[in-house]
Amino acid sequence: MPILKADLSACQGYANCVVGAEDAYDIDDDGVVVLLRTEIEETERGRIETAALSCPVSALWLEDA
Ligand code: SF4
Repeated sequence: MPILKADLSACQGYANCVVGAEDAYDIDDDGVVVLLRTEIEETERGRIETAALSCPVSALWLEDA
């Protein structure tokens, strides 16, 4: 199962990820991404990964567990 990862120190709060998949990403009060879950079903990988790749500072990625 793909695992969603984030580099919180790299996140600049652009929110592209939230726009792309609001069921997986959110932004906290400090403007830093929050992963709403980390275990991603294979069937939704494309959508979640596309949103991750939309991050301008490459702060999001998926790893195969
Ligand atoms: S798109 Fe990237 S920089 Fe923007 S909130 Fe999401 S993780 Fe952070």
